[in-house]
Amino acid sequence: MSKTIAVIRGDGIGPEIMNATLRVLDELKVGLQYEFVEAGMAAQEHVGELLPSATLESIARHRVALKGPLTTPIGGGFSSLNVELRKRFDLYANVRPAITVPGTKARYEGIDLITVRENTEGAYGSDGQVLSEDGDMALSQIKVTRRGSERIVRYAFDLARRQGRKKVTVVHKANIMKTTSGLFLKVAREVAAQYPEIQCQEMIVDNTCMQLVMNPHQFDVIVTTNLFGDIISDLCAGLVGGLGLAPGANIGTEAAIFEAVHGSAPDIAGKGIANPCALLLAACQMLGHLGLEPQAERVRNAIRDVVGRKDRVTPDLGGTGNTDSFADALIDSLRADGKA
Ligand code: NAD
Repeated sequence: MSKTIAVIRGDGIGPEIMNATLRVLDELKVGLQYEFVEAGMAAQEHVGELLPSATLESIARHRVALKGPLTTPIGGGFSSLNVELRKRFDLYANVRPAITVPGTKARYEGIDLITVRENTEGAYGSDGQVLSEDGDMALSQIKVTRRGSERIVRYAFDLARRQGRKKVTVVHKANIMKTTSGLFLKVAREVAAQYPEIQCQEMIVDNTCMQLVMNPHQFDVIVTTNLFGDIISDLCAGLVGGLGLAPGANIGTEAAIFEAVHGSAPDIAGKGIANPCALLLAACQMLGHLGLEPQAERVRNAIRDVVGRKDRVTPDLGGTGNTDSFADALIDSLRADGKA
């Protein structure tokens, strides 16, 4: 197979973790080619634009992008580039797996759950949703549509079916937000009825947060609206050891962008100590998307194999190693696995 993907190294620690991630991917020898394009501060510096058209064209052409974190400059006039990319490519499904890796500081063993978050509507919307903002009162609106709800719930059930998962939990607040969350829940019930082999559970968002902390093993796939999904997926990342191990995919019908959940970590940028695992796990989601799930599983196994090696892994995982030693160890593990 030969497949070219768009690669955005990103800002801050982005180039360091991308370099490590691509070194590990290359070890798989699956014929991946990279077209390097820029976005964010690097693009601003080199081309004078935060999101150059060459970058958008590359993503549109290759339909798959691996992206490092982008710094969002604070202050007026800048909307988040990530939000912009989601809008441009209608990346409606934000898929965030949370899996415990033995040897990391996780609160629970054996967690394997996926949050599927609606990525384009809900409470996070465009400026057009602001109704009033005069200094004394800020008023905005929440948009939930039948189409938006249907496609995200269907995505979650299809994912469950594909991965042999048993249960989808629809998370909502329809008891209070009867109109918006109410529509989401109504549509979710209609979609769920078409997947009789998969258990559909409904849960109110506040209870979900408590249940996740008390008994996370009851969850398999969670599907929810934008704001709830953003919060719940970070809660899940915390359950399995934090941002260093949290990947995310943004999936649309025309393109898919894979990235770490964390940001550009300016406090450690340039020090060579960033943990590459979140981006690498996002690359595993990308491999699965490209039909290379066995290779994705090889990389996940390498991560499981290496995280306990304190001399090789990065300080955020309690190690004394650095980004390069972490990548070297993962490559060693893949080579050993290849020989076994
Ligand atoms: P952050 O995620 O960059 O950092 C939070 C903390 O986690 C920091 O202490 C950092 O050192 C640590 N950390 C993050 N990733 C790490 C890694 N791989 N290895 C080791 N430690 C890691 O969040 P922030 O500081 O709030 O944001 C910095 C910038 O990133 C902001 O401009 C923000 O807008 C942007 N951001 C981008 C994305 C994205 O591109 N998807 C996501 C979140 C934040």
